[in-house]
Amino acid sequence: MVYRRIFDDAISRLKDERRYRVFADLERDAEAFPRALWRRSKDCAEEIVIWCSNDYLCMGRHPDVIGAMTQAAARHGVGSGGTRNISGTNHPLVELEAELADLHGKEAALVFTSGWISNLATISTIGDLLPNCLILSDQLNHNSMIEGVRRSKAERKIFRHNDLAHLEELLAEAGHERAKLIVFESLYSMNGDIAPIGQIADLAKRYNAMTYMDEVHAVGLYGPRGGGIAERDGVMDRIDVIEGTLAKGFGTLGGYIAASEAIVDAVRSYAPSFIFTTALPPAVAAAANTAVRFLKQRQGAELRALHQRQAMLTKHALSAAGLPVMANPSHIVPVLVGDAELCKAATDMLLERHSIYIQPINYPTVAKGTERLRITPGPLHTDAHVAHLVESLVDVWHSLKLSFVEKPKILEFKREADAHCTYPEFKRAAE
Ligand SMILES: *Cc1c(COP(=O)(O)O)cnc(C)c1O
Repeated sequence: MVYRRIFDDAISRLKDERRYRVFADLERDAEAFPRALWRRSKDCAEEIVIWCSNDYLCMGRHPDVIGAMTQAAARHGVGSGGTRNISGTNHPLVELEAELADLHGKEAALVFTSGWISNLATISTIGDLLPNCLILSDQLNHNSMIEGVRRSKAERKIFRHNDLAHLEELLAEAGHERAKLIVFESLYSMNGDIAPIGQIADLAKRYNAMTYMDEVHAVGLYGPRGGGIAERDGVMDRIDVIEGTLAKGFGTLGGYIAASEAIVDAVRSYAPSFIFTTALPPAVAAAANTAVRFLKQRQGAELRALHQRQAMLTKHALSAAGLPVMANPSHIVPVLVGDAELCKAATDMLLERHSIYIQPINYPTVAKGTERLRITPGPLHTDAHVAHLVESLVDVWHSLKLSFVEKPKILEFKREADAHCTYPEFKRAAE
């Protein structure tokens, strides 16, 4: 047995399939975000613009959030000192959980070390606690939810993506009495499409099922107080468990669930991936709390409006230039390439020739043949940044002989959006 060979071969297979991933060595600049430094080699660094961050609202560099983190670190120290059961429950974490429960209008919330862990822990624990449970899981659910479904002993069935008729068929088949858990996302981050939450809740009620929803790509970003798509649509109270992350819209790190006291207490008491791992440090909890509070207020609503404006502007400008933007009703801007190698070549060219950083999205994150660029405009991308992005993508599309859309729709967008744009930081950045 030549151990080394096994690993080398595994990597070669990925390289053959053009799935081998290379991480760009970046240095974000808190003051100049979305600008960053790209450490191209040991002694060569270049300024670039980030266009694929999931720090959607730039809260990770917000002065109030940075202030909360540094102050809490100075006051409480850096680590948390243990698991929650040993000595990891610090006051900032307790405050954060109360803030999150309030955000989603639930009795309680529980914070985990990541969103990935919160899905794994909660879905598997609920699936095991409900006797003879059937888990009904959307076909496009994120890996962390799939891992949670697999980890539990419950039987599982996959329903076609956002397909209410298929979901209803599976619910009816299981019967009214059997325990059932419907697991889905509010906003799917690779296509940018949104689930019919109210209708799924209707089905859950009719067939006596529980609902579990991942709002990771929507918390902070949608709803009058940043409670997500469910808050926007007025259906938060109709979902049993809402799961979110602190790492995307809230710009820090960690994950959570918000639910009834009974559910939260059961997960807290039974989930190994909650019990046996060190708690989030108090400084991270304090920073996240500041971001959550900020986004509940008027300034948060203004930041959300600006974020939507820049996302819509980017979509419209790229479409108008004939680039194949995949239509959707959210802030995600996917541009179809349809080939792994070309997708990688396009992103390399964007970085090397145009100083634009976008990661290629290839299989297994998306299906083969639907490889794409996933662009995430933020509130601090200026209109000039958008114009540069469009020119650069058009150049790359010509250089790689990628196909343009024949008759692009040109939409009058900008003037209307500008009327709503009052965010002071943006105005400063734009000058
Ligand atoms: C990113 C992501 C997660 C995991 O959240 P982290 O806090 O990054 O671990 C969970 N669900 C979905 C849909 C995600 O995209």
